[in-house]
Amino acid sequence: RTVFVNGSYLPEDQATVSIFDRGFLMADGVYEVVSVLGGKLLDFDGHMARLARSLDALGIAQPMTDADWLAAQRRLVADNAITDGLIYLQVTRGNPGDRDFAYPPEDTAPTVVMFTQSKPGLAENPQAQTGLRICTVPDIRWARRDIKTVQLLYPSMAKMEAKARGCDDAWLVEDGPSGQVVTEGTSNNAYIVKGGSIVTRALSNDILHGITRAAVLRFAREAQMTVEERSFTVDEAKAADEAFVTSASAFVMPVVEIDGTAVGDGRPGPVARRLREIYLEESRKAAI
Ligand code: PLP
Repeated sequence: RTVFVNGSYLPEDQATVSIFDRGFLMADGVYEVVSVLGGKLLDFDGHMARLARSLDALGIAQPMTDADWLAAQRRLVADNAITDGLIYLQVTRGNPGDRDFAYPPEDTAPTVVMFTQSKPGLAENPQAQTGLRICTVPDIRWARRDIKTVQLLYPSMAKMEAKARGCDDAWLVEDGPSGQVVTEGTSNNAYIVKGGSIVTRALSNDILHGITRAAVLRFAREAQMTVEERSFTVDEAKAADEAFVTSASAFVMPVVEIDGTAVGDGRPGPVARRLREIYLEESRKAAI
């Protein structure tokens, strides 16, 4: 595999980053995942806009223009012959010196790493037919979940706990005024459907502002579906007609069980199925 490191395209076993890099020592960095379908990039503009926002929030310099990002991503897709798959990109604060809590000088070059993952048939994931079983896990992450940082230890732990309990993934939950409320999934945004209305938590610092979320809500509104951006409880989710998650790599993925309780009839619901179809069709059309 050819990977990208700080402007160079190298075989993956020749790509290196300093052990003093703050991304490695302090999780001081941000990332994005862009899907590739039919050799084209999905929601490129949205992901680059969020990358700029994450970098800005942490005061890390933007290392490249969007035109450069596009050219680099296209080159990796071509060099690695990716038809369906993912592009992972990461920008860290770098670090020219020794380990220190204080940031390095402002003119320090960020470290940029990018690689592809081939996922043949990504859009035909059989899990979309069966749906996900979700276990709820306390959300003990920090208070700036809107910044897409590489601090993914807790989401990994939550996913492992969910798997140990026989689930496919976790929904992270915290105490609310009327019971446990869902923030989001370990690596996706969470939704329920009740009485024809699509409910998902409103944007704030509590959740990642999903690029797929933005697209799916736009398509839902364009299709005259009702969208409510508000918190929902775990009890509400268990009693919902449907549930689903969205992310760049899973698109729209139905949820069929929450903590052992079947959602609706325990099968992927019509709203989730329809939104998945619309999202895939429209995103493929707009892919670049
Ligand atoms: N929420 C979290 C915590 C995530 O890690 C992700 C994606 O990785 C999402 C939501 C979904 O965001 P997107 O649709 O931009 O992939």
